[in-house]
Amino acid sequence: MAVFKQYINGKAVAAKSGKTLSVEDPSTRAKVATVPHSGKEDINAAVSAARAAFPSWSSTTPGERSLALLKLADALESQKRKFVTAESQNAGKPISAVGVEVDAVVDNLRYFAGAARNMEGKAVAEYLPGRTSMIRRDPVGVIASIAPWNYPLLMAGWKIGPALATGNTIVLKPSARTPISALMLGALAQEILPPGVLNVITGPGSDVGAALSRHPGIDMVSVTGDTATGKRIAAAGAESVKRLHLELGGKAPVLIFDDADLELAAETMRAASFWNAGQDCTAACRIVVGPKSYEKFVALLEQQVKTIKVGATTDKATEMGSLISAEQLKRVEGFVSRASKKAEIVYGGKTIRSKGHYYSPTIIAGPAQSSEIVQDEVFGPVVTVQRAKSDEQMVEWANDCRVGLASSIWTNDVARAFKVSKALQFGTVWVNDHFTLASEMPHGGFKQSGYGKDQSMYALEDYTVAKHIMVRSE
Ligand code: NAD
Repeated sequence: MAVFKQYINGKAVAAKSGKTLSVEDPSTRAKVATVPHSGKEDINAAVSAARAAFPSWSSTTPGERSLALLKLADALESQKRKFVTAESQNAGKPISAVGVEVDAVVDNLRYFAGAARNMEGKAVAEYLPGRTSMIRRDPVGVIASIAPWNYPLLMAGWKIGPALATGNTIVLKPSARTPISALMLGALAQEILPPGVLNVITGPGSDVGAALSRHPGIDMVSVTGDTATGKRIAAAGAESVKRLHLELGGKAPVLIFDDADLELAAETMRAASFWNAGQDCTAACRIVVGPKSYEKFVALLEQQVKTIKVGATTDKATEMGSLISAEQLKRVEGFVSRASKKAEIVYGGKTIRSKGHYYSPTIIAGPAQSSEIVQDEVFGPVVTVQRAKSDEQMVEWANDCRVGLASSIWTNDVARAFKVSKALQFGTVWVNDHFTLASEMPHGGFKQSGYGKDQSMYALEDYTVAKHIMVRSE
């Protein structure tokens, strides 16, 4: 069994207490590694190291930081195979599905390497006679970056890129279930970055995450996780008015209008709804179909879903792997069992007997708009399909939700695509597509999906503070 250490001030170290946590492969429940269970002393040491590294790292030129990010991207790319194997094993993902996640992190780091050199402030000007004003964008300071288990490396990468590009230093805490790829990335970073610029500590959110996000030495907390976790961190951060970057839950609606290409929509849902076993904040999980197309679409979707290959994560042909944990499996079973009392299970709805935490891809037809299965994030391989009476009802149902991360519209009418895109309260609206991301474009939510953007130049703004400098010039 592999034994991992955490990274504090450039060194690989065990927890001061000697405590460890074991990490399992969710697809077999085999113990695969131990990682440190950080304690108060480790958290203090990591925050102090990041504080000590901040003055010199924030004084490097954008060109120097850009070069460091490019080196990190190259190092990750050169070890892609190792990362794919580790991430697949630690997160229960099919081996064939993880390569694109590693590629996305490499691309993201390269994007931020370029973006670091292109950040602009407002032009210098005299807004008052005899006074010259300019805007600087300064780094925030020490960032606590707290990542979830569903895309452990990808989410760590999304946090590291913009924070380092803008001159911040970091204490990264991955999920206790999936710490391995963040520790491996931490190891690569120690070869490239000065000590203390990127520290990685490990442990559960309830103690290590909570203590880190409350720590007086932390200037900003960037968390990707459940909406309830975001609320707890926001409440704890209020004590010292910490800056927050919250990427929280989603419940993405898919609006399929009667003029849409139904085959294309059904084929796209095969991946958009079931990729990563539906454990995705943008998963296409609540489908609303126009009155004339409903039956046909449900049949087309069933045809697609039937062909999803669920199996061992090490099998290259597998498309859907295990859920992350026994708790997550129980959660999905509970949602489907309650929903089945008032809606029809068209396909799936079963736990798959195995050593891991497998659940079948599932389609539920006809749930009420107010029902739990439509309103709450399941975070599993489960989609609902509802029949709407009109275009207006489709938009109304889409927006009738506490969260607002991503959505999609399916239509061949350009005017309708623009009108509905404007009306939807979601951070992303895809038209005739779902799921595709680009490093240049922002990712983040409306409503209880949180605030702040990952990716794009908007992330650089979030990891900096605008400073006005006014000089008496006459
Ligand atoms: P989670 O909220 O359980 O945990 C996220 C991280 O927060 C983990 O590192 C955890 O240890 C830590 N944490 C938990 N409680 C904490 C506390 N009180 N203080 C500080 N840290 C704490 O989320 P998860 O189950 O790992 O991930 C699934 C959730 O993440 C889903 O709700 C999903 O929608 C969301 N998510 C959102 C996005 C996005 O971009 N908006 C992306 C991926 C996942």
